[in-house]
Amino acid sequence: MEETEKKEAVRKIYAAAVYLRLSKEDGDVCDDSRKGESNSITNQKRLIHDFLKGREDIHIYKEYVDDGYTGSDFRRPSFREMIKDMEAGKVNLIIVKDLSRFGREYIEAGRYLQKIFPAAGARLIAVTDHYDSLTAGRTEKNIVLPVKNFVNDAYCADLSVKIKSHLESKRENGEYTGSYVSYGFRKDSGNPNKLIADPVAGENIKLIFRWKLDGMSNGRIAEKLNALGIPAPADYKRSLGIRYRSGFQKNLFSGWSPAAVGRILSNPLCKGLVVQGKRERVNHKIKKTAVRPEAERSCYRQDDLALIGEKQFDAMQRLLKKDTRTNPGREAAYLFSGLLFCPDCGRQLIRRKTVYKGKQTYFYICKTYNVEKSCTRHSIKEQELLPLVRETVKAQVQMMADGNEIVRAAEDAMERMQAFSPADTLLPELEKELTENAALLSGLSADRTEGILSEEEYEEMKVFYSDRCEKLKGQIRTRKEWMAKAGEAVREAGQRLECFKDTGSWLADPGADIRRSFICSLIDRIWIYEGKRVEFSFLYKDRTAEAYALCGMLGKMQKEPSSA
Ligand SMILES: [Zn+2]
Repeated sequence: MEETEKKEAVRKIYAAAVYLRLSKEDGDVCDDSRKGESNSITNQKRLIHDFLKGREDIHIYKEYVDDGYTGSDFRRPSFREMIKDMEAGKVNLIIVKDLSRFGREYIEAGRYLQKIFPAAGARLIAVTDHYDSLTAGRTEKNIVLPVKNFVNDAYCADLSVKIKSHLESKRENGEYTGSYVSYGFRKDSGNPNKLIADPVAGENIKLIFRWKLDGMSNGRIAEKLNALGIPAPADYKRSLGIRYRSGFQKNLFSGWSPAAVGRILSNPLCKGLVVQGKRERVNHKIKKTAVRPEAERSCYRQDDLALIGEKQFDAMQRLLKKDTRTNPGREAAYLFSGLLFCPDCGRQLIRRKTVYKGKQTYFYICKTYNVEKSCTRHSIKEQELLPLVRETVKAQVQMMADGNEIVRAAEDAMERMQAFSPADTLLPELEKELTENAALLSGLSADRTEGILSEEEYEEMKVFYSDRCEKLKGQIRTRKEWMAKAGEAVREAGQRLECFKDTGSWLADPGADIRRSFICSLIDRIWIYEGKRVEFSFLYKDRTAEAYALCGMLGKMQKEPSSA
C-alpha cells in the first residue's frame, strides 16, 4: 500500500512554488551577520535551486518573493498570490528554505501546514529543516513532530518564564533542581531533588583537600591521582552509568587535570552548601547562559553532604585565592603573595619595586596607606622578611626534630608501611579455626547417634562449639573491618609522609630555597607591624607532632587490634 503510494509519488510531476522571504525587523538579519547573509534572498534562492538539481519530478512554476516583509503575519502580497495559485491548482508544491521563511506567526503557520496544504493536496518542503510533507508520512505523529518544533517556539518564550519561576520556588524549598551533579555527589535514587554524598568519590575529595593543604599544586595533585589510577570525574561518572556532559572534558578517559582539581577544591558542596542558579539562560532561544550575581543565587545547607569542615573549606578558599593572585604570565605566585597583612587596618600588603643607583629592591607596604594614606606605611623589605620567614618555618618544623631526623623517620615509616600488607597472617588462622570448630560442631550429632557421646555430653559440647564459632566469627569480622581501616590509614600515611620528607630534606639543606608550599602549608597570615615587627599566625600548631604521631601509629599497626 505504502509502496504503491511511493511509486505514485515518484511518477507525479510537481509544479513548485519557490517562496522567498526576507525582513529586517523580525530578527532574520540581526541575529548575527553570518545568519543574515545566509538568509539573503540570493542565498535562499541558490539553496533551493541546489536542492532541486537533478530532481526531474519537480519543475519550478514560479518564484514568489516577499522582500522586506515580516514573517509575523501572512499579509504579504507574494504569499497571497502563491496561495491563490495553489487554490487554482497551478502549484502543488511549496518550497521554502526553512519553516520560518514560511511564517513566524505560529498558530496561523500551523493552520497552513496541518490543514490548508493537505486539503489542497499541496506538498511542502522546508529544505534546511529536512521537512517534506510527502516523506514525513501520513500519521499525525510524523507530520506533527517537525512542525511541532517550529510551533513550539511560540510557546517557548512564555514557557521559559514559567519554568524559571518554578525552579526558583523549588530551590527556595531546599530542593536540588540541577540536571548534573558535581563529582563526589549524586542524586538520591528515591528522590531526584535530593543530593547524597558518594562515599567512594568523597574519600578522594578528602584526599585532594589534604594534599592541597600539604602544599601540593593542583597540577601535582592531578598527576598523583592519575598515577594512583583514580578515575577522573568524567570517567568515574561514566563508569557509574551517569550521563555526563562537560564543556571542560570531551575526551574519553582523559584523566585528571589541574583545572578539575581546582573545581573540586572550590566547590561549596564539599562543605555541605548547595548553591544553585549559578547560571541562567539568557532567553529561551539562545543556549548561551550568563553568570548570575552571587547575591541572587539560591543556596541551602545540607549537613550530611559535608565532606570537609566549614573552617577547613574556608581556609582552603583563602589558600586558593593566595595562589591565584599571581602575576599574569607567572607560573607560580610570589613567595609571599596573599600572606602579608597589616594589623592596623587588616588589609593586605602590596609588593612595590624601587630602583636606587641601578639596584632593584622589592618591599611591601600597606595597601590602605598606598591608596588613601589613611594608614601608616608598615613597610618591610623582601630581603629582610625572607630570612625571618625561613627561620620561623624551620623552627616550627624543628620543634620536633632536625631535617635529617625527619627524613629518616619518614623513610623508616614508609618502609614499615610498605612491609605492612593488608593481607595479614592472623586472619587466615582465625578462619582456619572457625572451619575446624564448625566441622566439630556438625559432627556432634553423628557422634551422638553412634553412641560416642551421651545426650548430656552432646548438649554440653554443642553449646561449647556454638559459642566458639560465634566468637571466632565476631573476631574475623572485627579483624576485617580493622584491616580495611588500616589499609586506608596506610594509604593516607604514605601521602602525608611524602610531604613530610620533602620538608625534612629542605631543613637538612641550609642552602635550599624555601618553597612557597612550605610557607602556605604552615602559615595562615604574616602580620607586619610598624618598625618591622613581624608576627605569624600558624595554620596548624602541631603539624609535626601530627606527623610523628602518625609514625607511631604505623608502628602499632602490626599489633593486634584492641577490640578483637
Ligand atoms: Zn594598614
